[in-house]
Amino acid sequence: MKICRFGANRLGVYDAETGTVADISGALQALPPQRYPLPGYDLLIANLRKIRAEAKRLLPRAKRTPLARVKLLPPVANPGKIIIAPLNYSDHVLEAQGDPALSHGRFKDPEIARLGMAMKATSSLAGPSEGVRLRRPLVGMENRNDHEIELVAVIGRRGTNITRENALKHVCGYCIGLDMTLRGPQFPGFRKSIDTYGVIGPWLVTTDEFGDPAAKNLSLSVGGEERQRSNTKYLIYDLPKLIEYASSFYTLHPGDLIYTGTPGGVGPVKPGDRIEANIDGIGRMVVMVSEATAPS
Ligand code: MN
Repeated sequence: MKICRFGANRLGVYDAETGTVADISGALQALPPQRYPLPGYDLLIANLRKIRAEAKRLLPRAKRTPLARVKLLPPVANPGKIIIAPLNYSDHVLEAQGDPALSHGRFKDPEIARLGMAMKATSSLAGPSEGVRLRRPLVGMENRNDHEIELVAVIGRRGTNITRENALKHVCGYCIGLDMTLRGPQFPGFRKSIDTYGVIGPWLVTTDEFGDPAAKNLSLSVGGEERQRSNTKYLIYDLPKLIEYASSFYTLHPGDLIYTGTPGGVGPVKPGDRIEANIDGIGRMVVMVSEATAPS
């Protein structure tokens, strides 16, 4: 099942055959009522089984809208953590070492085993239709803003010290992710947390439909020109190992996102650019780039 959020917080199921989004927002009534303090995890993902059952019941009579007329929001609204694997494809490690604009002198030994993982602020989250709004906050520096396509796993089940063997049981679905990145010497969690720099979409594909994440093609183009193309089989730490690694430090909760890393070919984007990202088994995500306007 391909579950999306759209419009004014509507919940939908995308049907690839007809190219339409079915409005199953009624399924949200299956969620338990909340009171302060709200949980630190995503409520919808924690109740995904119930939501899916309701969605199936509502689908036959649901109102359908062509995808092109739908404003897509991030399929996970309230992730507690956005975990990122910064250097997890060899060709990206090599380009980072070879280009001072990427490495800023930091990566003598750029190994994920040594450097660990990083986080993006949850406030960086954006849906495909919201677009990326570029900021240039570094005084006297180039302020290069890059695209990074990544397979994103959505954690469905709480767990800590998860073993590699059990890891995929903790995943409920997958999205395409753009780990938009301002290049500079600052900590990744600072540079990568700009508003709208954490795009996920176009929908969450549930694990039963997506299958094994071990060998999926991913590609990204800007303005029709291909910039990145790879396959998840080239990941240095594959998804089970990333889950084992991350959960050896902290508990993973429903809705936590794991950006698995970007392959080589990262490069700058500018206002007006149209990013198209594709991942096998998920589909195509189109994201427009603009300049952030005056403070709001
Ligand atoms: Mn990345």
